[in-house]
Amino acid sequence: MIRFTNVVKTYDNGTTAVADLSFTAPTGKITVLVGPSGCGKTTTLRMVNRLIEQSSGAILLGDEDNAKMDTIRMRRKIGYVIQNAGLFPHQTVLDNVCAVPYLIGTDKQTARIRAADLLELVGLDREYASRYPWQLSGGQQQRVGVARALAADPPFMLMDEPFSAVDPIVRKQLQSEFLRIQADLAKTIIMVTHDIDEALRLGDQIVVLKEGGILAQIGSPAEILANPADRFVADFLGESRGYHALSFEHIASLAPQQTPVAQIGESVAAAEGAWIVACDELGSPLGWTRVTAGAASGERLVLATTVSHGQGNYRELLDAALASPNGQAILVDDRGRYLGTLGSEVVVRGAVTSLEAERSA
Ligand code: ADP
Ligand code: MG
Repeated sequence: MIRFTNVVKTYDNGTTAVADLSFTAPTGKITVLVGPSGCGKTTTLRMVNRLIEQSSGAILLGDEDNAKMDTIRMRRKIGYVIQNAGLFPHQTVLDNVCAVPYLIGTDKQTARIRAADLLELVGLDREYASRYPWQLSGGQQQRVGVARALAADPPFMLMDEPFSAVDPIVRKQLQSEFLRIQADLAKTIIMVTHDIDEALRLGDQIVVLKEGGILAQIGSPAEILANPADRFVADFLGESRGYHALSFEHIASLAPQQTPVAQIGESVAAAEGAWIVACDELGSPLGWTRVTAGAASGERLVLATTVSHGQGNYRELLDAALASPNGQAILVDDRGRYLGTLGSEVVVRGAVTSLEAERSA
């Protein structure tokens, strides 16, 4: 756990960047600090590893006061990832990842073997190990930055806008990979972003800050979406608030409807011209097709994105329903086999009920 207690930072020029901040970042979870530019996010983060000293208040790392820890020992416990990765330009990728292990005296062979494993973990092939940072894309550099932060296997991670400098598609990939890695490693993470979508996607807990480093709200994404503390938070969440909230509502309790399913060309017991689900020979849905002459016609197959009944959420379900030619989402089991469909009216009604329960919880 990382715990802030009444932390204040006033810079020498009189700017109060952080005002009386108290919160706990739980062990093994991702806490996201989010807020507009200049609201004190970076200052807050850099006080954790004492790149900036607080004016007053205390920060605990586990059960230790960070102000009383030896700086070197403290920083070994904290991986630090910054925007644009901040790699050493004249060192290879492998040596960048080994930087901290070398510094703390890990033998070269051990450090290099571990670095190669970490590069694989963050999705970089072996061939990248001997390249220099300028020979990598922004997304690849950012991956190296994450590998480097993990190299000394620190229990804590600080990440300052780690995915902000890459384009939206790469950003989404990096976010997914980061969640996959964190599911295994369970580090205690504080991540900073100004992007509310990123915060909602990655955070187990979200700390919303406003101008002057004032705590606006703290809670899970679902809690904050359901009950914004004030006008500032509501405005910061923006106009897709309701839609976002659907991401946190599970659909497993809905009973799918049995829309006929067939392989292309197979005869099917359904009305002429009706939309039915077309599947492959293993029973995995491909999309929607119409019944022609009593069979699943191959013409005009409308490809569909399916939703997992066990894992899916209302946002995916509503999107799948709206994207289909007949307002129906296709549900599959954990192995991707067809389970049934759900119509947009049923989805919306279920979503409203689920959100109501969230708001009154
Ligand atoms: P964020 O990361 O949320 O954009 P920062 O923590 O970088 O915000 O900055 C918070 C406030 O503190 C801003 O008003 C910024 O101008 C000010 N600030 C940051 N660093 C310094 C500094 N070294 N000296 C004076 N003011 C600073
Ligand atoms: Mg910042």
